[in-house]
Amino acid sequence: MPPAFRREYQSLSNPEHDHEYWMRHALNLAQRAWDEGEVPVGAVLVHNNQVIGEGWNRPIGRHDPTAHAEIMALRQGGLVLQNYRLLDTTLYVTLEPCVMCSGAMVHSRIGTLVYGARDEKTGAAGSLMDVLGHPGMNHQVNVIGGVLAQDCSARLSDFFRMRRQQKKQQRAELKAQGD
Ligand SMILES: [Zn+2]
Repeated sequence: MPPAFRREYQSLSNPEHDHEYWMRHALNLAQRAWDEGEVPVGAVLVHNNQVIGEGWNRPIGRHDPTAHAEIMALRQGGLVLQNYRLLDTTLYVTLEPCVMCSGAMVHSRIGTLVYGARDEKTGAAGSLMDVLGHPGMNHQVNVIGGVLAQDCSARLSDFFRMRRQQKKQQRAELKAQGD
């Protein structure tokens, strides 16, 4: 029996939800990572207008370097479809995927990747390198970048700003204790 995880999202005015709708869903998942003290990245895997996988970044809490939002969503999608090939699915992720996640997307045969903010440092969908667009790849993933890019990058920069402030405060408290 496949796990009972398949959420239907229907709207009378817009049965085919647009990319921004699903990206907002991914942003909500990114918030869960934030709440757990992880870098806020969220991912949602959609098949026939239904959510079949949800993930948020949680490598620290899980002691798992592969626990990126995209990997978590792909794993759940495989269980739901009972198939290691995730054909005709679209993966929405708030940040351009890394090399590992891009590789997993090729292995899983997803149809389309939609991402929010670019990641100039580690992005493997064209920024640092282009794994998904590499001409020698045995599977080509359609890539759409920049959906709600400002919201997605603001979520990350807000997080890092908050963490810098926390560290500053901790240092000040330690100093006060030492005095
Ligand atoms: Zn990744």
